[in-house]
Amino acid sequence: MTAPAQTSSGAWVVVGIDNGGTANNATVLTPAGDFLVANLVEVPSRVNEGPVAAVDAMELALTTVLGVTGLPRSAVRAVGLDTPGPASADGVISSKGATNFSEPAWWGFDIRGALEDRLALPVVYNNDGNAAALYAHHEHFGSEAVRRSSVSAIVGTGLGGGVVERGQVVRGAAGMAGELGHVQIPLDGVLEPGQPLPRCNCGNLGDVESVVSLTGIRNNLLPYWLARYPGHPLADVPLDQAAKAVRGLAVAGDELGLAIFAQQAGALGRLFTIAANFTDPHAYLVGGGVVEAEPHFREWFLSGVEQATALREEQRRIAHFAAVPDLDMAGARGAAVAALAVAARQSIDD
Ligand SMILES: [Zn+2]
Repeated sequence: MTAPAQTSSGAWVVVGIDNGGTANNATVLTPAGDFLVANLVEVPSRVNEGPVAAVDAMELALTTVLGVTGLPRSAVRAVGLDTPGPASADGVISSKGATNFSEPAWWGFDIRGALEDRLALPVVYNNDGNAAALYAHHEHFGSEAVRRSSVSAIVGTGLGGGVVERGQVVRGAAGMAGELGHVQIPLDGVLEPGQPLPRCNCGNLGDVESVVSLTGIRNNLLPYWLARYPGHPLADVPLDQAAKAVRGLAVAGDELGLAIFAQQAGALGRLFTIAANFTDPHAYLVGGGVVEAEPHFREWFLSGVEQATALREEQRRIAHFAAVPDLDMAGARGAAVAALAVAARQSIDD
């Protein structure tokens, strides 16, 4: 379950807190890069009760995870925090609110600064997609992480992820770098002749999320493919349920399901082709349910992504295509990795 805390006096750790719609998940990371918590440590996030209750709940996540590891609060040198966006690079929630932060008290709220004031510790902020990308990068490259670059696409209800350069997240001037889901991609050769151009919830036509997400399946791909397969078992199922059932059918070899995931693999390849010409990363990482399915399906999907990514010969020799592991802990762990970089710089200054 949990490794015994091996920090002697004078040793320090960082804590990562993943703030979600219902729960905070927390972890503890040592300067040597070891996570002291093997499983999820969760407390209710209380974000729907407003900022004061939510900051209480984040502090409770910290004390709870420290309790699990048996470490005192004085051992914590920095805290990493991630939340769903949209938020600024410094953790100010969008002035228009956000899905998890709909109450007016949240609009424009500095969640990072509020937690920093409460804990009297440095708090480093990332949005959840960037935190997951950071974790994926460090998990994939280990001790080589600081010399490597990657792009991560995380497929869920939407399409999240991020861009990592030399072990650090590319945040952008306004904190909006790595919004991979809303990059528009060429879809000729991915869509069938006559297939309508998919529309995203953000209003874009033909962006990555409009194809590669559960929402994209529900709104765009499934309605099209059901019309091509009259009498398909999903035709009589409500769309929300049917969209969630597509992956199970595809894993079992269903033609309609495979057609949908082949289109998703093709679209991810188009996104990664843009990345190849833009930042030319060492690794192209894919996370989400689609790569947590049975190994044969994961391999089929990843190889479809790789085939659809146009790389030059020099790039092909270097590039890795891989799945992102342990996604349910990726937010807290990525947040902790970001905090470690800050705490390590501090210890050099000491
Ligand atoms: Zn979009």
